[in-house]
Amino acid sequence: MTLSPPRGAQLTDRAAAVLAEAAAARSTVVLSGHVQPDADALGSVLALGEGLRRRGARVLTTFPGPFTLPASLAWLPGAEGLVPSAAVPASPDVFVSLDAASPGRLGELAALLDGAATSVVVDHHASNPGFGRVRVVDPAAPATVVLVADLLDGLGVTLDARLATCLYAGLAADTGSFRFGNTRPDTHDLAGRLLATGIDHAAISQRLFDTAPFGWLGLLSVVAGRAVLEAEVGAGLVWTWSSTAEAAEHGLPGEQLEALVDVVRSTQEADVACVLKGQDDGSWAVSLRSRGATDVSRVAMALGGGGHRAAAGFTWAGDRESTIRAIRAQLRGG
Ligand code: MN
Repeated sequence: MTLSPPRGAQLTDRAAAVLAEAAAARSTVVLSGHVQPDADALGSVLALGEGLRRRGARVLTTFPGPFTLPASLAWLPGAEGLVPSAAVPASPDVFVSLDAASPGRLGELAALLDGAATSVVVDHHASNPGFGRVRVVDPAAPATVVLVADLLDGLGVTLDARLATCLYAGLAADTGSFRFGNTRPDTHDLAGRLLATGIDHAAISQRLFDTAPFGWLGLLSVVAGRAVLEAEVGAGLVWTWSSTAEAAEHGLPGEQLEALVDVVRSTQEADVACVLKGQDDGSWAVSLRSRGATDVSRVAMALGGGGHRAAAGFTWAGDRESTIRAIRAQLRGG
């Protein structure tokens, strides 16, 4: 018999108490997501930041540089109040890290883990090694916003449409709109609470997932057309590549490379899908997805990155062939 790990309120009790005390004392609280924040990181920062502000805290919301947001996220309520990392104090009363799997994912803001009087780490990555003073790390949570919703409940903050929009964005994004295996009965319970605030979930999903410039179709056709199937590698590997420079040729910002893997991963013959995204500095940002048989967080961690069982990533400095060779070696078992 195994004991299930503490869940929900039990896990967030101590963090909620620390945050409630800080808010009551009108303390300065800095909240950050991971570098290149996604909907879960940003939704978590904005929702918890707004909740703490309502409880009396002096709140600064930020994320590590580069300080730019994709158009798919810049509309989230409160995003206009985000400040660059250079604008936050080095020694706030409290630093809250949200959806960052490791200190490295906090970039220059990792210094606040030590600089702040206390730190709170809220995350759901299986690869999280455990860092920060107060830890709310639950790999069973489908999204960090689920833990934030528990914290807001613990703080006595009533969910309204503004908060629910931020939470729903993270929940829908990290569960693949409730299609991924991380979706549980209580995931739908939370979604029901959020919809009950009157949010326009269809508009949120359209902005997050179903909006791209026309040029994306041209980029997709090129990138999909050069995909390679290596059915003999592990449980099957399908991979392709692009770059920020190639996105620019199609009139697109680099952020438009992120959705490519969602098309590639539908390949039936390959359990693992991989997209190599060439960055401006010549490195490769690598996205890995599993259809279920392969733990890609293990692959990503072995190569210096992290993530979840079904979705993970890492950054690699070598050329394209050496990058894919390293992935093949991991999928073949070392
Ligand atoms: Mn997440």
